Amino acid sequence: MKEPFVTLEQVREIVKTHPTPFHLYDETAIRENVRRLRAAFAWNPGFKEYFAVKATPTPGILKILHEEGCGVDCASLTELLLAERLGIVGEEIMFSSNVTPAEEFVKARELGAIINLDDLSHVDFLAETAGIPEKISCRYNPGGVFALDNEIMDNPGDAKYGMTAEQMAEAYTKLMAYGAKEFGIHAFLASNTIKDDYYPALAAILFELAVDLHKKTGAKIGFINLSGGIGIPHKPDERGNDIAVIGAGVRAAYERILVPAGMGDVAIYTELGRFMLGPYGCLVSRVLHKKDIYKQYVGLDACAANLMRPALYGSYHHITVLGKEDAPLDHVYDVTGSLCENNDKFAIDRSLPEIAIGDYVVFHDTGAHGHAMGYTYNGKLRSAELLLAADGSIELLRRAETPEDYFATMIF
Ligand SMILES: *Cc1c(COP(=O)(O)O)cnc(C)c1O
Repeated sequence: MKEPFVTLEQVREIVKTHPTPFHLYDETAIRENVRRLRAAFAWNPGFKEYFAVKATPTPGILKILHEEGCGVDCASLTELLLAERLGIVGEEIMFSSNVTPAEEFVKARELGAIINLDDLSHVDFLAETAGIPEKISCRYNPGGVFALDNEIMDNPGDAKYGMTAEQMAEAYTKLMAYGAKEFGIHAFLASNTIKDDYYPALAAILFELAVDLHKKTGAKIGFINLSGGIGIPHKPDERGNDIAVIGAGVRAAYERILVPAGMGDVAIYTELGRFMLGPYGCLVSRVLHKKDIYKQYVGLDACAANLMRPALYGSYHHITVLGKEDAPLDHVYDVTGSLCENNDKFAIDRSLPEIAIGDYVVFHDTGAHGHAMGYTYNGKLRSAELLLAADGSIELLRRAETPEDYFATMIF
């Protein structure tokens, strides 16, 4: 059973001032989750989470995470400017970009961000455009397939990111010649993993690479960035990750590989997005229409512009019909939005309780890569984002877009 963190009574109250659709976030749960993460890595004195801003680029959310000790992971000029506006600067920013324009490196340097280079050719590019900082990171791609217990998790050999091991060594040597003094290693090998052994396996690969790079180049490795990829359970029968087990698994690899190599002072960084926010946000929408043709359709006031993942990836987002939590799931519906696109379906052949026009539905696990992926196709506008604050009140984090916002870039 997946239970929403909001009730029908609460939604009826909220819609008096904030009409549906809207994204809602749970402040208490967000804070508790950061504290669990930090406890899991408390054994590593330098540990820091750099929240992947792209997942939820919402100031009210970034402030909560920053208060809990998180930095930000940015990958574009606008994300850097957002961090700056929030007063999150210097080494609180990890700039993990790729195909990076010169002006973005310049801004990252100006802010004192830690730069994570995606390619060997970016060493000279950065030297020429913005200069080489003393502390810098390089992104690794081991190639091939990445498997855990014989199960293929992802295909790094097909991914555009990172450098080969040989290129990492060459990059470090060149960077040292340019004056760099402290190095990081970054890799992101699999997305939305719901196995506790992803991070420990990735850590072991990066720790061994660190020992090797230190031996080959003499570079001082200051930190290892395990990046994102820890997933969340989307389906009711999926088990969530246990962050304490993950932290202990990374620690075991650290003590097995880094400590004996005299590298027991390396800091662990993470750049989690989905794990930090996914379960603690939901999309609330209202049923506008029902339709009975060759299939049964339920039409909502939200559409793929508010939550793109089902249309884009076929992702499962669990649906709760508020007030009907205990009703039998004895109807089968396609749950759709209003875009003139037949893939604007939040769910296909989903078993749900009998739905009536006016019902409120909650899409679970939309806190990361949800509102952020929104777009304005068909002139559909992005919704508001609200916070269920720790004191139970509702706070507006971002207003809904208006037609004037849509027209703002147009030349009439
Ligand atoms: C998207 C991204 C993340 C976050 O990924 P999640 O799957 O949300 O944890 C972290 N680092 C980089 C470089 C990314 O591109």
